[in-house]
Amino acid sequence: AIDIKHIRQNPELYAQNCRERNYPAAAAYPARINELFAQWKDRQLEGRNLRTRRAQVKGLLANPTSSLTDADDADAPALPREQLIEEGRNIKEALSKIEDAEARLTAEMEALALALPNLTSDETPRGTEPRVLSYINDHPEPEPALSDRVWRSHVHVGSELRILDFAAAGRASGWGWYYLLDEAAQLEQALVSYALTAATRAGWRQVSPPTMVYSHIASACGFQPRDDNGETQIYTIAQDPASSDRRRPELALAGTAEIPLAGMRADTTLEQGALPQKHVAVSRCYRAEAGARGVDTKGLYRVHEFTKVELFAWTEPDPDAAQDLFDEMLDLQTDILGSLGLHCRVLEMPTADLGASATRKCDIEAFFPSRRERNDGWGEVTSASICTDYQTRRLATRAKVDGAVVYPWTVNGTAMAVPRVLAAILENGWDENEKSVTIPVVLRPWMDGREKIGPRH
Ligand code: AMP
Repeated sequence: AIDIKHIRQNPELYAQNCRERNYPAAAAYPARINELFAQWKDRQLEGRNLRTRRAQVKGLLANPTSSLTDADDADAPALPREQLIEEGRNIKEALSKIEDAEARLTAEMEALALALPNLTSDETPRGTEPRVLSYINDHPEPEPALSDRVWRSHVHVGSELRILDFAAAGRASGWGWYYLLDEAAQLEQALVSYALTAATRAGWRQVSPPTMVYSHIASACGFQPRDDNGETQIYTIAQDPASSDRRRPELALAGTAEIPLAGMRADTTLEQGALPQKHVAVSRCYRAEAGARGVDTKGLYRVHEFTKVELFAWTEPDPDAAQDLFDEMLDLQTDILGSLGLHCRVLEMPTADLGASATRKCDIEAFFPSRRERNDGWGEVTSASICTDYQTRRLATRAKVDGAVVYPWTVNGTAMAVPRVLAAILENGWDENEKSVTIPVVLRPWMDGREKIGPRH
């Protein structure tokens, strides 16, 4: 399903794309694919010649009246029948070896092609620096020198209000897990309900997906179990003892509902008129976060398990159709974060940050008082990507469009990633004098109408 011909014809385009996207090892794959293709062509030629000779031998054996000579050489002495039978046997053996070699070469070419990242959109800045597209809400601290507001990290706020417990999670599960208590646990549900309602009102169909998926489905979506450095990125479960499939394929805990949503249409052809399809799902997300040890080790910013509401759409394979969905997602994300009162910026992400599947990606970062020292306060809270046909080709998702069978394009984005938004609300809404957090107005209907989270006595 991968367009290997396009890779063969444009090896430098793909190699340069790998280098820009921070896939240094994969930059060698296009040249390697061409080497393997040359070997495959040699095998094909050998096979063709042998098949022609086999047909001649068969003809000679079937027609004993014709002289048993080597057909290519009329002057050659006639070959005895036994010799022809022996030659036929040898040809069969040689052909079988050639076919095995062809299959091995094809599989190797396919594996390399599958591991290449998507090609990059012209909108994407090359390199490592994002481009700021716009801002949402005013900065809460326009003149830092004049501001006498006391900022606290969400870890401080959460422990002061006794609504976050990392120590208990450390005992029960280790680093990277947490307990949300009372209003923090209620805020999680409020954020999920708020985002889900916004999405379903805008016509997104709600789906409750499985949390575990086959590892090969995760790979097909662009999530490799191991990254370029061999670090494990996905929690896998070696075997499913309950599986009726005797191959017992490996299962993975989905890092995002994008994977089970995309997988929902694996090996499927969508009927004419079925596009676009817009789905929204809430799921628990699991991230090994290997390689991230040492950064964001405290708090909710980088955890192993979290709740996320995810938007996922299939569109016709057309840049305008995908762009429309992408803009719709960004508008929804902007409305949700804006209405929570968070100060944010929308970024066009650079090549180095695109991952495997996106051709283009926009992130929204919110202002976190606790991150002022590190990154002027900015921290990613949502992401939206156009993946063209990268995922559908790998998942064999097809669609009938105007009488042709095509690979639809996919677009995905975060509607609500709970822990970071919860952290941003606790930090931005903190009042040091009252020792309370203001609950954003739009969440109050899901919080019994309460305006504040106050100290607990
Ligand atoms: P991603 O699917 O990696 O683009 O992530 C989508 C959103 O999930 C990000 O914008 C973050 O808000 C959130 N997120 C990703 N990884 C983590 C993590 N390890 N802990 C908490 N939130 C995360």
